[in-house]
Amino acid sequence: MQGSDDLRQHLVTAENSSELKEKLQKIKEKIEIEKPASILVRAFLIEWKIEKVEEFSKVLRNELPMAEIVGCGSNGSIVNAKVMEGKHLFIVTFFDNAKLQTLTYEFGEGEEDLISKKICTDINQKENVRAVELFTTLLKFDARKFLGGIHFQDKKITVFGSNVMGVIPNVNENLKESAFILSRNGVVKCGAVVVIYLSDDLYAKLYRVLGWKPLGMELEVTNSTSRVVKEINRRPAYEVYQQFLEIPNDENFVANTIGFPFYTSEYGYDVLRIPADCTKEGYIISNAGIPQGRKLKLAYGNPGEIIIDIRACRERIREFKPEVLLIYDCILRKSFWGKDGINIELGAFENFPKTAGFFSEGELYGVEEGIIHNECTFMAIAMREGGGNEIAEIKEEHTVESKEISMLKRMATFVERTTSSLNSAYQQLSTLNRQLQTVNVQLSYMALTDELTQLFNRREIEQRIHNAFINAKLKDTPVALIMIDIDFFKKVNDTYGHATGDMVLKEVAQIIHDQVNEDNDEAAGRWGGEEFIILLPGYDAEAAGKVAERLRKDVERHNFEGVGQRTVSVGVTSAKTGESEEEVFIRSDNALYKAKQSGRNRVIIL
Ligand code: GH3
Ligand code: MG
Ligand code: MG
Repeated sequence: MQGSDDLRQHLVTAENSSELKEKLQKIKEKIEIEKPASILVRAFLIEWKIEKVEEFSKVLRNELPMAEIVGCGSNGSIVNAKVMEGKHLFIVTFFDNAKLQTLTYEFGEGEEDLISKKICTDINQKENVRAVELFTTLLKFDARKFLGGIHFQDKKITVFGSNVMGVIPNVNENLKESAFILSRNGVVKCGAVVVIYLSDDLYAKLYRVLGWKPLGMELEVTNSTSRVVKEINRRPAYEVYQQFLEIPNDENFVANTIGFPFYTSEYGYDVLRIPADCTKEGYIISNAGIPQGRKLKLAYGNPGEIIIDIRACRERIREFKPEVLLIYDCILRKSFWGKDGINIELGAFENFPKTAGFFSEGELYGVEEGIIHNECTFMAIAMREGGGNEIAEIKEEHTVESKEISMLKRMATFVERTTSSLNSAYQQLSTLNRQLQTVNVQLSYMALTDELTQLFNRREIEQRIHNAFINAKLKDTPVALIMIDIDFFKKVNDTYGHATGDMVLKEVAQIIHDQVNEDNDEAAGRWGGEEFIILLPGYDAEAAGKVAERLRKDVERHNFEGVGQRTVSVGVTSAKTGESEEEVFIRSDNALYKAKQSGRNRVIIL
């Protein structure tokens, strides 16, 4: 199938730099014969000692001075659509038309905006850019800021790449420190390396598969900083795992949560977020971060469903007719699948020529708004120059039925079921809780108020008067009471009926309520029948008399619908030093009685 117009991928594996040097001689011969327009070497080193990395870097630069170089530390290689452990991988790609350029940016914290702008400018001024491949040490600065700032004028540019951490065996020491990027300019410890593909007939397409499926309940990040998800639904973030999966916050937290990342979105694209750690406080460390306010769900990996998604993606790639296929597969997927399982995922691509790649730690996927930092994601980059190659249809399918896999499948089903029942139970519970809350609010309200008039009921207003009297004694301040009785109310009932009587009671109550300033602990209550009382802390008899008079006039002026004018009689009194509550009540009763006796529709102060 491969002719001289094609993109060609040569895979070189080596255990050390001298083996690499030896094997590169063959590549040099091929270069002599085929004379490609450009050459790109992607180096994936299962190495973190910087001296060793420098050795490889030197060999590559010395032996292939015409090649662009990019690469990083790897957690295992993918060679011919299979896992290859224990060897470094060098993918040497020959291009017959495309020109390549490498740009190197060494920078650190605080320079994210500046550098992303610079990358955009550097690339926007070039013509015929078809693809941009980016490797970056995202743990060393604000990744979100940096990636969010990278979007090019030409929306057709395919942008892909990988975050670079450190190699996992070194995890206990300096995962962050051991990160490095190879480039033709040397080794970059902190920053970014960009390979630009310039061509008018290079086609590069990016495919992304999650496979993980979200579980029902939607949650919200209620507190987070760039890499720390502090709270979800206003509780420490880890409690989600405790609640739904019974995963405690202990030393196995990260291992236990591998199959169950968060499912959220970035620029409208679904993404997964893996807990990288959990703090004592129950905060979850997320390398890619989840901003505050973002909605998320828990996700689970079901091997059967993942394979279905991978194979569907494979068919789309087949239609693209790639000449080479690169795979950046997240290391966490390998941890999830295990060694056999991951070959089933990769095996979907065994018909594709020299499919190669590595296990990455953050797969970068460019969209219009910026670059998405993916986690736990399978990413394939298909490329061709010109028309491309037909890929034979794949008929023999692996079945996903090894022992390990069927166990995983069962577990996934279990999780799906328990969580969905938990979920519906939770929903029922929260509905009940809401109802209960409403009822409680109603109950406590009912306990205080009179249903018809919505003023305080007798018990509540008595309690308030009692408290006000104690307070007044303590502070040696005055307190006044106003007793109100509707005049000839019986007639309203007799003439217009009880319902109209109720309406009059309500409207009088409203006028009474209007006299009261609740902020000042003033209160109005229904004393019984058509009798009301107002409590005025801080008022002497004279001041209370003014309120009473205003109230009397307001009632007198009010037009009760269908009834016309009504009046009230009012008794006012204020507590005198050394007087008991009861004595004050008796006096206010007397005042009201006097108001009635002396002709009604009046205020008597005693
Ligand atoms: P006075 O001017 O002497 O106060 O005359 P009155 O008719 O208002 O006094 P009385 O105490 O004789 O009558 C009060 C009436 O209020 C009797 C009772 O049926 C009526 N009443 C008490 N509670 C309610 C109620 O909740 N709704 C209605 N519609 N009427 C009520
Ligand atoms: Mg009465
Ligand atoms: Mg009355």
